[in-house]
Amino acid sequence: MSAKFVCQKCGASHPKWQGQCNDCGQWHSLVEEVAQSSKSNKNLTTRFKPKELEQFLVSLPEEDVFSSDKKRVSSLIGELDRVLGGGLVAGVVALIGGEPGIGKSTLLTQLVLKLTLAKKRFVSNKQPILYVCGEESPQQISLRIKRIAKNEHKKPKKTKQFSGQDLLEVIGQKLLLVTTTDVDQLLALIKQHQPSLLVVDSIQTLSTSDLTGASGSVGQIRECTQRLIEVVKPRGIATFLVGHVTKEGSIAGPKILEHMVDTVLEMEGERTGQLRLLRAVKNRFGATDEVGVFRLTDLGLTEVSNPSELFLDEVTQGVPGSATVCTMEGTRPLLAEIQALVVDSNLAMPRRVGRGIELSRIQVLAAVLQKHAKLPLGSKDVFLSATGGFKLKEPAIDLGCAVAVASSLKNKKLPKNTVFIGEIGLLGELRTVSFLKQRIKEAKRLGFKKIISRQSHKTIKQVLKELGC
Ligand SMILES: [Zn+2]
Repeated sequence: MSAKFVCQKCGASHPKWQGQCNDCGQWHSLVEEVAQSSKSNKNLTTRFKPKELEQFLVSLPEEDVFSSDKKRVSSLIGELDRVLGGGLVAGVVALIGGEPGIGKSTLLTQLVLKLTLAKKRFVSNKQPILYVCGEESPQQISLRIKRIAKNEHKKPKKTKQFSGQDLLEVIGQKLLLVTTTDVDQLLALIKQHQPSLLVVDSIQTLSTSDLTGASGSVGQIRECTQRLIEVVKPRGIATFLVGHVTKEGSIAGPKILEHMVDTVLEMEGERTGQLRLLRAVKNRFGATDEVGVFRLTDLGLTEVSNPSELFLDEVTQGVPGSATVCTMEGTRPLLAEIQALVVDSNLAMPRRVGRGIELSRIQVLAAVLQKHAKLPLGSKDVFLSATGGFKLKEPAIDLGCAVAVASSLKNKKLPKNTVFIGEIGLLGELRTVSFLKQRIKEAKRLGFKKIISRQSHKTIKQVLKELGC
């Protein structure tokens, strides 16, 4: 097979890589692809047997689509099951994205451990788990496995009991570490061992010699993923691909895979902090925007089934600039803290900076506060952050952000045990938000006495007046 370089803008094909496309003049648009040996469209009827083609025709399923739930296998990690839409499905190809070092490998190590030790036989000696360690050496991985295995062993809920050395032997029989990064060798191994589960850590380390590009290039990532999918899908092998994403946002790599895989999970959180969110961005087998919450410890990731309590551990109530909001993560209400800092600016264009909060939201809120609440923000720098390093994107946090800004500006504490829930319109009006009942219920459950929302106030001005900000 030979390679060609195809312009991603106009589709023109070039024999060699070059910086600019000859046809359309676009820069940096060439991506290496495998040139298919001339399989033409003629003789289609002889190329495919009618019976083979039948499999591609499916009549509408009579049963509810969700009856496929039966075929799900629990991953034995509740929060992961939640994000996957109920568990593992045969042949599912899932991409786990996130910054390097955030805990993707840790989560997958725990997953393979749980499955190898499970009483329910998901993994047998005949159908082991293949774990491609492109990022780490097998020694590093086995060290992590030993460390986590001891911990898993301590809480033998769903796992079998083993004594020390036996434990590692059992794992060793069912878990095979793959050290090659040649995708074609990997495919041969898959065909040979028929694994029950495949973990590729990471997709950026795989490459095929059919392409000249380095591993991690767009062409390589796309081609390797395509080849993997063609092999694991028909065999029903559940597959996890790790994709690293850089801090600056997503590098080309994992993004281009999103349409190829069934499920895209993103792990986020502050590297220095303990909390980790696993978010389903795409899920062919379940609802998106479900979120799993974990706490990273030296023994791995522990599940957090009651996230609000954890978030509120860190809340610094009663300090000017701090407000508590309630955001929905999937179907779960989650209480979180917003922190604001407003200071005099010495810039002609005062700064608006957000950490975990979108910049456009801060700009709009600052303008609304200036116009409708007469806050002199035109000469102030405004910084807003969501604690824990998480991204809060919901409009329902508007009110909390606005009062936090006002509170910092006036250096006045907000009342304790108060939660702010509401979207703010451009005219300064409070808007009601979805799932208000669930949010209020969650806030009350956690001991919050007062809820400020559209139900109690009509405008941001009214709210600020009452708070004395
Ligand atoms: Zn072009």
